[in-house]
Amino acid sequence: MFPAAFDYRSPASLDEALAVLAERGDDAKVMAGGQSLIPLLKLRFAQPALVLDIGRLPNLNAVTRHDGNMIIGALVRHVDIERDRDLTRAVPLLAEAAHWIADPLVRNRGTVVGSVCHADPSGDWGSVMLALNAEVVARSKSGERKIPVAEFFQGPFTTALRSDEIATEIRIPIPTGAAGGAYNKLERKVGDFATVAVAVQVEMNGKKIGRAGIGLTSVGATNIKAIEAEKALAEREPSDEVIRDAARLAADAAEPKDDIRGSAAYKKDVVRVFVQRGLHTALSRAQEARS
Ligand SMILES: Cc1cc2nc3c(=O)[nH]c(=O)nc-3n(C[C@H](O)[C@H](O)[C@H](O)COP(=O)(O)OP(=O)(O)OC[C@H]3O[C@@H](n4cnc5c(N)ncnc54)[C@H](O)[C@@H]3O)c2cc1C
Repeated sequence: MFPAAFDYRSPASLDEALAVLAERGDDAKVMAGGQSLIPLLKLRFAQPALVLDIGRLPNLNAVTRHDGNMIIGALVRHVDIERDRDLTRAVPLLAEAAHWIADPLVRNRGTVVGSVCHADPSGDWGSVMLALNAEVVARSKSGERKIPVAEFFQGPFTTALRSDEIATEIRIPIPTGAAGGAYNKLERKVGDFATVAVAVQVEMNGKKIGRAGIGLTSVGATNIKAIEAEKALAEREPSDEVIRDAARLAADAAEPKDDIRGSAAYKKDVVRVFVQRGLHTALSRAQEARS
């Protein structure tokens, strides 16, 4: 199928792009890599009057460090994350997750920020960003605001972004002490969306877990932050029992549905197993990072 007709703008500056959105935001769709938007246009699930292509905007395609954060610009692609050595050293969970996204064709064009803005509950980045306590920086003509990813996802394909805003970057706090992460994904075949996936990040405070982050993919209306499970891990010395309890709490937080990929009960159990497995891996990686 062909898309419905639309106007196309490809501004050369962020100010110009924001001016267009200030005027026509309600009728427009921002396009970054187009890997989700173009299929939606072709299927006519989206029929915007205007497509605002941000692909030519300058200064948005870098990963940088600032003020204790890794900054991922709006045009950084999945493949850039896989290849960025500094980022991989600072937050290894990102490179591990990038490898699980789709296939090389999609990873070469799709962007991390675009994926988070798309807010597909089956998207992998949403859970990773929840586990890492990231925030989205949104710009409009009237200024800038920072939105914690935990408040960003409001429903399937729905975010806290206003129609006059562009997400210009994602900020990820760089762990200061020993830390480790893991991304486990169950998929029917290579390149598929997750049947279930789980992102786990732990940051140690001496012998105790200082902070834990857990994000769940494909088991609810949005990516889910397993807050009770995170709390059950914070300030605790890791043990099989503590890990088992956290995994059970994360499974309780999941709200999957029966579908062709599996029953809800099966998916909940995969969450439990993946949280348990992810925590063991993340803790041993944190241990390696310390030594
Ligand atoms: C075959 C295939 C397989 C896939 N498999 C996976 C997978 O396994 N895991 C996974 O997580 N994803 C998967 N995806 C989805 C894909 O990885 C991402 O959704 C996609 O890369 C989104 O980034 P984009 O830059 O292409 O966004 P676009 O398609 O350009 O935009 C997506 C949405 O986000 C909005 N948007 C984009 N950037 C911004 C911005 N900076 N500010 C405001 N709004 C913005 C757009 O308006 C649009 O609504 C797959 C896609 C395909 C086609």
